[in-house]
Amino acid sequence: MTFPDYFPYTHRPGQAELVRLVRDCVHDGRHLVLEAGTGTGKTVTALCAALEGTANSGRKVIFLTRTKSQQRQIALEARAIADRADVVCIAIQGRGPATCPMMQNDRELASGTSEELSKLCATLKKGGSEAGTCTFFDNLDDAAVEACISFVRSSHPDPEEFREFCSVRGICPYEAAKRVLPYANVVSAPYPFFFIPGIRTHFLEWMGIGERDAVVIMDEAHNLPNYLRDIQTYRTTQRALDMTMKEADENGDPEIYEGLTVKDIVTLMEDVLRDAQAEFLRRENDLIPPGYLTEEMMTRLGMTTYGIRDMLMSMYAAGEAVADEKKRRRKLPRSHILTLARFLLAWISCEDGSHVYLVAGGENPSLEAYCLDASDAADPLLSCHSTVSMSGTLRPLDVYVKELGLYDPVTDSRPSPFPPENLKVGYVRDVSTKYDELNGGEDTYERLKRYVIDLVGCVHRSTAVFFPSYSLMDRFIADGVPGMLGREVYYEKSGMPQSELMEQMTDFKCSEGAVLFAVTGGRVSEGLDFPGKELELAILVGIPYARPSAKQDALIHYCQGRYGSGWDMAVKVPAVRKMRQAIGRLIRSETDRGVAVILDRRAADLAGIDAEYMEDPVASVRDFFGHN
Ligand code: SF4
Repeated sequence: MTFPDYFPYTHRPGQAELVRLVRDCVHDGRHLVLEAGTGTGKTVTALCAALEGTANSGRKVIFLTRTKSQQRQIALEARAIADRADVVCIAIQGRGPATCPMMQNDRELASGTSEELSKLCATLKKGGSEAGTCTFFDNLDDAAVEACISFVRSSHPDPEEFREFCSVRGICPYEAAKRVLPYANVVSAPYPFFFIPGIRTHFLEWMGIGERDAVVIMDEAHNLPNYLRDIQTYRTTQRALDMTMKEADENGDPEIYEGLTVKDIVTLMEDVLRDAQAEFLRRENDLIPPGYLTEEMMTRLGMTTYGIRDMLMSMYAAGEAVADEKKRRRKLPRSHILTLARFLLAWISCEDGSHVYLVAGGENPSLEAYCLDASDAADPLLSCHSTVSMSGTLRPLDVYVKELGLYDPVTDSRPSPFPPENLKVGYVRDVSTKYDELNGGEDTYERLKRYVIDLVGCVHRSTAVFFPSYSLMDRFIADGVPGMLGREVYYEKSGMPQSELMEQMTDFKCSEGAVLFAVTGGRVSEGLDFPGKELELAILVGIPYARPSAKQDALIHYCQGRYGSGWDMAVKVPAVRKMRQAIGRLIRSETDRGVAVILDRRAADLAGIDAEYMEDPVASVRDFFGHN
């Protein structure tokens, strides 16, 4: 069998084999799990290979991404390939201020979830109600759709360019992208388009294919297991209950079942939450028995499970009525009653072995059904013709395969093509961030501070200090460490709005020799590029093990029981992936050079980090950069 050759650049060493590997897996309908670091050209390689492997088959490539910049990258590579291949590539994004001009200047609408916005959008598109219509949709006539299709075919726009094209014509970019989907053979989309069941059904319908004709490529796949657990986790909080109570008051407290009203259920939930804290909560979060909430409802209401389900369905309907009324007034169709009903229905339906049930305290106590098993939500991947999971930090690959439940995959790991001598990774032996050590009588904390101050001061290079938690970073800040560094310091703080974070990063990148305080596993260490001299020294303060908690213990226990590897799968592997992501910020091209110093003796035992012992890390760093 001969395949077309779509690769648009001169191959770097190893790239031709990588294209062949991906192409053969795609053609043969296999699952491929691939670790390939920065510099291997993952995006262009996977795109070319998938197009070659699907040529003349009627199959389509779905490229799932976590960030808009990845979608842009895919569009740029599609443009490069277009001279050689019949490629029609479109990016689709969820409804939001960037894709729905209706909500651009409306703060309330801009805060809506995609489901809420989708409801309002459906009403406006239908028209004929008091809510009126959406002119951006009305303007999308056949001629406008034709213009969009031609534009995508001829220009291979990135998401921003497509939005601009739509904006000039006064049409809705979200709806326009949907209308182009049937003509595209490459579609980039955020994860929810494929992994949220209701959205996936529509998405594939719009594309005009079934799952078996889809070739799904997942970039940054190391995040996928956690994402899949998250989308199957259900939570309600005291604040959510407060808002539900308020909404019930404002809407005449609807009766939902034989004299019971919404406020009765909210009061019951507040009591259950309070009692669960009193009975079970000893730590930050703690387990409650699987049937606890359902049994409490049955006992307190004197109802059977069938009755409770009926009552919750009726509460759901009451919530929908509230949302519909808002929709009628062209407001965001949000209902806290609906959200609470949905939480309770999900909770009583998932009382199985793949969830644990937790109560948490603090300022905003909560009840949570936490999903331990990522594989249920990964199921649709098994129905696809082929899938490619790739990341620079996916090892150990067998752990990823087990977590997703992939059947008979091909696994491969490609080394970085950059000169190995450009990166030095070391660790020290006399400190660690183990809880007892950090908070005990020893002077570990003082030594950690000293290391950071001395390392930052030993060379004038842009430096990131990655902390294992915001609380340790805050402790450094409270103790005045930034002021002792003699450099400009920038921060990635907990809960910082994205725009503020980006401002900090722009300033940091422009200030050679500046220092950045960030968190290992945070937005900076997982998603931002620092090429060239923008980052040359990384100091990792400790190992970013998840904090011990009932939730973490449950995950360890589950992985031990199901896969025979609890601590490694639930704790060690995620920590190593986070550290490798942080260290990976240093080397983004073959001319980049950098040093990472891990301030924790436990780094010696972490497979995949490959750190060497540094007896004198300051001397090692100075030596690396050629300072005497
Ligand atoms: S049609 Fe487009 S612009 Fe109008 S409400 Fe829907 S998403 Fe927004």
